[in-house]
Amino acid sequence: MSMELLSVSEALERMLTHFHPLPPERCDLLDCLGRHLAQDVVASAALPPFASSAMDGYAVRAEDTRAASENGTVRLRVVGDVAAGESDLPQVGPGEAVRVMTGAPLPEGADAVVPVEGTREGGALAGKPLAAEVEITRAVSAGDYLRPAGGDVGAGHVVLRAGHRLRPQDIGMLAALGVAQPLVYGRPRVAVLSSGDELLEPWEPLKPAHIRDANSYALASAARALGAEVLRLGIARDDPQDLRQKLGRAVEAEANLIISSAGVSMGAYDFVRQVVESQGELYFWRINIRPGKPLLFGAYAGIPFMGLPGNPVSALVTFEVFVRPVLLRMSGGDPFDRDRVQVRLEGAVESDGRESYLRARVWGARDGLIARLTGSQDSGVLSSLIAANALLIIPAGVRRLEPGSRVEAWLLPACVGWSGKG
Ligand code: AMP
Ligand code: MG
Repeated sequence: MSMELLSVSEALERMLTHFHPLPPERCDLLDCLGRHLAQDVVASAALPPFASSAMDGYAVRAEDTRAASENGTVRLRVVGDVAAGESDLPQVGPGEAVRVMTGAPLPEGADAVVPVEGTREGGALAGKPLAAEVEITRAVSAGDYLRPAGGDVGAGHVVLRAGHRLRPQDIGMLAALGVAQPLVYGRPRVAVLSSGDELLEPWEPLKPAHIRDANSYALASAARALGAEVLRLGIARDDPQDLRQKLGRAVEAEANLIISSAGVSMGAYDFVRQVVESQGELYFWRINIRPGKPLLFGAYAGIPFMGLPGNPVSALVTFEVFVRPVLLRMSGGDPFDRDRVQVRLEGAVESDGRESYLRARVWGARDGLIARLTGSQDSGVLSSLIAANALLIIPAGVRRLEPGSRVEAWLLPACVGWSGKG
């Protein structure tokens, strides 16, 4: 076991060597949001599959409309009517037009569509009988107001790559391509444990010297937001026996990862380290990060174990820094996928030399993004994390940054939501 104080990047690198993408499985489209593709998706046919009208109007030969204008109309004979979904198509000959609706296949012979607004008819077409003639008031060129076959995606084209995290627009594309059950990587099963004699459930009345368990709820939600299946193990007392008993449920459930919070510092009742060591392995437990220096990484009965600090902000920030990449790796995604931006500090910022993740608000000004701390950076103060939309990263060794300094920031919605790099 390593006693050294690891840098954040070294700790993360060592952690990631213990995780691999979970075996791929077929998944119904509606259950695929946030999952990662396990294979490239290739369009088996063009999208759209046929040339169609982009407007309600008349399919024409563009050259027939050349003389049309507001004051000099062109009259064309209407030889048919095509609704969306109609596959029995009339021909458009010289001097002829076919009424077409948006999404209807383009009849043969036509090379453009005149929208209804470019005819004397104007207005909506609903309920109007088909006239024998249409007066065109607007000239069109070949290709106008139509959607060519393959104009969105060509047949054989790779639309989405393996490892891509599925967003609503991706799910729509898969549906359009006829991929009803894409192959995606498995979902991590994550067991979440709180520990501490002082902790109560949210529904319990407060007792003297007690607080409510914020961490297991916040951490379970953060894991779920990343697509994990979560098993909440509840609150273990500061007692090795109770810790082992609660952790036993994670073993029974064959969890892929255990996340615990608290009980990993130097306190007289911090038993998590001892329990992990007795049933498994401790890889390291100290990282040069603020908030969150005492952070334990090991394996409990063969299951990777991440023992996060007890203070709620430390627990959530270390989740973002270490657990998120691990969950992304297991889910088949890019562990380093997140929204990062460069910001300028509005005011001076102090740090203690550890690599620091500070709660801040970032907003756009005329000359770029500006950041302001949201208040107390005490690791027990959750309200300043609630007010934040970003974490500012102050590199290790830096103790003060002047106003106007440039730093990297992670945008928080991406850390705890479904969004992320496309
Ligand atoms: P510990 O690491 O056990 O010394 O805990 C550090 C601090 O975090 C203490 O003030 C604990 O009361 C607090 N804490 C521990 N677990 C939780 C939790 N689940 N929810 C809220 N605060 C917690
Ligand atoms: Mg404790």
